[in-house]
Amino acid sequence: MTQQPLVIVGGGMAGAMLALLLRRHGTEKVVLVESHPLTLPDKPPLTPSFDARSTALSAGTLVVLDKLGLGDAIREHAAAIGTVHVSRQSRLGTTRMSAEEEGVEQLGAVVENRWLGFVLLGALFSDDGISVRAPDTLASIRRLDDGYRINLASGESLETPLLIAADGARSKTREWLGISARDHDTGHDALIANLSLATPHDGVAYERFLNDGPLALLPLPDQRMALVWTGPRDQVAQWMALTDSEVLAQLQARCPAEAPRLTGIGERQRYPLVLTEACAQVVPHAVVVGNAAHTLHPVAGQGFNLTVRDLVALAQTVGGNPNPGSLSTLRAYAEQREKDQALISQTSRWVPELFRVQQPLFAHSRQLGLVALDIMPGLRSGFAKRAMGL
Ligand SMILES: Cc1cc2nc3c(=O)[nH]c(=O)nc-3n(C[C@H](O)[C@H](O)[C@H](O)COP(=O)(O)OP(=O)(O)OC[C@H]3O[C@@H](n4cnc5c(N)ncnc54)[C@H](O)[C@@H]3O)c2cc1C
Repeated sequence: MTQQPLVIVGGGMAGAMLALLLRRHGTEKVVLVESHPLTLPDKPPLTPSFDARSTALSAGTLVVLDKLGLGDAIREHAAAIGTVHVSRQSRLGTTRMSAEEEGVEQLGAVVENRWLGFVLLGALFSDDGISVRAPDTLASIRRLDDGYRINLASGESLETPLLIAADGARSKTREWLGISARDHDTGHDALIANLSLATPHDGVAYERFLNDGPLALLPLPDQRMALVWTGPRDQVAQWMALTDSEVLAQLQARCPAEAPRLTGIGERQRYPLVLTEACAQVVPHAVVVGNAAHTLHPVAGQGFNLTVRDLVALAQTVGGNPNPGSLSTLRAYAEQREKDQALISQTSRWVPELFRVQQPLFAHSRQLGLVALDIMPGLRSGFAKRAMGL
């Protein structure tokens, strides 16, 4: 079945990136099935993945994009992160991680998802080895001895030695493969919007732990910042209902004193923070990736960066492999990724919890945590390296 295409269901950030990585690692044919229309973009797209959000790309993800020949195009409309400023409202303990201290040019870069989509889809459509079926969805799948037969809603039928589920946290493909998933509803939502500033942000990203939940301000080009503001669902509903000037005042009051003065806010959107974890990521002839495998809290901007590390390992393991769907091959991939996935998922789960607890002992220890990070460069450096994906 080596001449048959590998089939990816879901053309979001994970699916599009994986198609390109598979081609780079020797896969001859890839078919990408996406339920939303995807056309050769002459302007940035708008799909559930490539929407109004922005993504903080780690230095490691930028290296991967460079290898795909896409780094320069991404950087054209991205803001470099030179410093990360972490603080806790009304408490001592601020820590700064800087590119200079880490001996790198930048800690990462922030790009609007629409631009990321524009660049990824542009590359996808110019690759003859990638065929896009959009809008289309799986109508049914049938297990064969050496792969899967896939029937699409359009009536087309395909056989593949490896079916890849990249169709998001509510993945239908994962369900059809018989893989269950655990959901953890945090009861919180994230409010996202773009902000304009009175003064330049100087490449500083702010991470602020508030009693309601963490807040992040990420640098964007043109003296703007991307806001990710999390809190209990009813609280976020109230922030959504405020006028622009009211919400800006509430936000500025929660920002650290060092943050720039906020002058405007764009369209506000909210995302429920339901963390999903697939109970298995590989079965014979199928693999689950991206949000379908693990949906993380956006607190440290790690979801896509973790996924990129998964996708590189997967492409290296199955790309050009004569038997890409064998369970031993897929297990080797899963084992390779287990440690990093567990560490990042647990961290992004317990950090917001830790900072939310009100008891004095916890308040003291999280304060100590920030102070410790600031006075122990080794500890801070280890933390920064992990966040940079290096
Ligand atoms: C507020 C917020 C901020 C974030 N910030 C960061 C950050 O700064 N850095 C970072 O690394 N990560 C960040 N993330 C995480 C990042 O957004 C996710 O890792 C990423 O979206 C995962 O992409 P995905 O392609 O797996 O899933 P999705 O984005 O959900 O895409 C799934 C795709 O599958 C398609 N699809 C669904 N069902 C079907 C079907 N049946 N058939 C065909 N196609 C289908 C959908 O249309 C969609 O295009 C953030 C997340 C949130 C919510």
